Amino acid sequence: MKLAKVKAIEGKVLLQTYDRLPVLLTHGKGAYLYGADGKKYLDFLSGIGVNALGHSHPAVTKAIRKQAGRLIHTSNLFYHEFQSRLALELTKLSGMDRAFFCNSGTEAWEGALKIARAYAHEKKNRKWRFLALEGSFHGRTFGSVATTHTLKYREPFEPLMPGVKFVKFNDVADLEAQFDDEVCAICIEPVQGEGGINPVSMEFMHKARALATKHDALLLADEIQCGMGRTGKWFAFQHYGIKPDVVTLAKPIANGLPLGAVLVTEKVAKVIHPGMHGTTFGGGALACATALAVLDTIKKDKLLAHNRELGAHFLKLLRKLDARHPAIQDVRGVGLMLGMELDSADRAKQVVKDLLAKGTIINRTHETVLRFLPPYIVTARQVEQVVEALDEALTSNSAASARK
Ligand SMILES: *Cc1c(COP(=O)(O)O)cnc(C)c1O
Repeated sequence: MKLAKVKAIEGKVLLQTYDRLPVLLTHGKGAYLYGADGKKYLDFLSGIGVNALGHSHPAVTKAIRKQAGRLIHTSNLFYHEFQSRLALELTKLSGMDRAFFCNSGTEAWEGALKIARAYAHEKKNRKWRFLALEGSFHGRTFGSVATTHTLKYREPFEPLMPGVKFVKFNDVADLEAQFDDEVCAICIEPVQGEGGINPVSMEFMHKARALATKHDALLLADEIQCGMGRTGKWFAFQHYGIKPDVVTLAKPIANGLPLGAVLVTEKVAKVIHPGMHGTTFGGGALACATALAVLDTIKKDKLLAHNRELGAHFLKLLRKLDARHPAIQDVRGVGLMLGMELDSADRAKQVVKDLLAKGTIINRTHETVLRFLPPYIVTARQVEQVVEALDEALTSNSAASARK
């Protein structure tokens, strides 16, 4: 089928929830995606941080082929070996004690919120409120969206889960003012993704940890986008030297198969009993076996060090552009999770379009921020190629706006 035909059919039969880019993708290999138009695209978005090992990675394909021919799903009424093996790995890497597996980011986050309430219930301490940060994104279900700051995601669905208050981003005084004895948990993405690639400051993170401990509330770290190696450490919270009570994971962990995880400490795990929470699909054999292959590859190919080093190189090159293009307001991020803030949403939109025309995929988030989430297998040459394309796009774009 051609793009025009697919577009016409989708326009009639799909709920119109997405504003898609005009490309019909057929296959991918490594850091490249291929379109039905015969064009090749360098993928610096990796399915919004999902395809950590790029496309058609041999280790992933092999794991899927092998497990698909044996056992895909059992339900959680039975044992299979892959949940325990994956939980052993994730707890070892994170220093957390136990894992719960589900199917998506929002489902992991919803689980984290429920666990925080269960903890308060068990303690009979009347805590029920959540603190979340301005700029946060935690997903689309009622609880998740209630802790998400962006108004357009929330308003059409109100009333949402009550009791959420938003703290000004990285504002320690506001955090202290709002953290009272009604708060059962503080919700933090160590590096905000959707909100525009905003790393939480060292001071803010440490204050959040201290206040949560003081009030016997939980620190929930949403690492659905920033976790699993993207920032150059297994978990973004590890950059801060603190330990959360609950960590959520999803996007990259099975390289595109639906899988989410909630990791908790033993103190928190004690309040969850059989029958309280669950899922039919979550933690299936196929998804978990694939996640094990992803972890194994990240270790074997030393991708954490690669993400740290290449991320630093990428950031340096983006900063050089910042010095030459007045449209650039800021460049920031950690490892291979980087953002470039421009002076207007229109310009950001145009740059994404221009890059796509040049065969490079990036995306725009929080209106004005260009987001770079390349696969971990990306090379220095590919990073440089994207920076060159950006340089050209910003130059022709500022020339175009000067003519107006
Ligand atoms: C993407 C994302 C989610 C939601 O994950 P879905 O798989 O889309 O439900 C939640 N939190 C963060 C930080 C995310 O980036």
